[in-house]
Amino acid sequence: MQKVAVIGAGTMGNGIAHVFAQNGFAVHLIDVSQPALDKALVTIGKNLDRQLAKASITEEIKQQTLTNLQTFTSLAAGVKNTELVVEAATEQTELKLKIFRELDEHTGPDVILATNTSSISITKIAAATGKPGKVIGMHFMNPVPVMKLVEIINGYATEKAVTEKITALSEQLGKVPCVVNDYPGFIANRILMPMINEAISSLYEGVAGVNEIDTVMKLGMAHPMGPLQLADFIGLDVCLSILNVLYDGFGNQKYAPCPLLVNMVTAGFLGVKSGEGFYKYTAGSKDLVVSARFSR
Ligand code: NAD
Repeated sequence: MQKVAVIGAGTMGNGIAHVFAQNGFAVHLIDVSQPALDKALVTIGKNLDRQLAKASITEEIKQQTLTNLQTFTSLAAGVKNTELVVEAATEQTELKLKIFRELDEHTGPDVILATNTSSISITKIAAATGKPGKVIGMHFMNPVPVMKLVEIINGYATEKAVTEKITALSEQLGKVPCVVNDYPGFIANRILMPMINEAISSLYEGVAGVNEIDTVMKLGMAHPMGPLQLADFIGLDVCLSILNVLYDGFGNQKYAPCPLLVNMVTAGFLGVKSGEGFYKYTAGSKDLVVSARFSR
């Protein structure tokens, strides 16, 4: 494989494009928004500078990575002559189904269609195309240039050869692939989200405060970040939506989102992206300050 298309130039799309381009692939980065594409190129440039400062890449690799990137606002033009498409557009089922219907129309029968979805069924996305065997989940972690894992998700109809190709490709990108099957939350979010939900329930029930909950998990379990800080980082709206996927998909009460999480999302307290969640975030400050709503 030499040429790949990445759809969506947001948080994940720019990281995915960066990693492919840095590993020698010609990358077509596609977004409906020109400002999102412009911002992605700036972000990639800054991240490359950071890698350069740490001497983890050379100036030549930085320049080659930038040369390997081309941006497009048209899906049809962007996917032309590519051998793999990695979709990382906004997490909305209807939007993804529409994109995959279009991809079916504009790509040849052998082109592999991967999705970076965190929670939408791969089997459902694949069923929107006429080649479900060629559709697979390729779930990168945030931030993509740093995180090693790629959770590879087999849809019900994914062909074995496609899984093998995507596994080998992930290794070529310097990542560690883990192949799992397509059930709600896959593995990463099926295990992570109930832990975050339980941390929020512990706070809601007054068992402990924000600092205590995060400190127990950081120092006791050697987690680099406590579950409440991690929830803020992921986005409380994203956590809620994934918990709802688990709850709907399994029909099991154990996945019911904590009412405190529901309230916070309804009120717009979404974590880092809105400036406040369990912690309060001030631009330019790296201090972790518990939100006044939870100070004890
Ligand atoms: P984001 O909101 O940062 O970016 C989404 C981008 O998609 C935006 O730039 C938007 O303009 C673009 N877009 C919307 N409709 C489009 C279309 N029709 N064609 C092309 N581009 C379109 O979102 P994100 O956080 O990068 O998430 C992208 C995907 O990655 C989602 O499926 C999400 O579940 C998954 N994911 C996110 C994370 C994370 O931590 N953010 C982690 C793993 C997986």
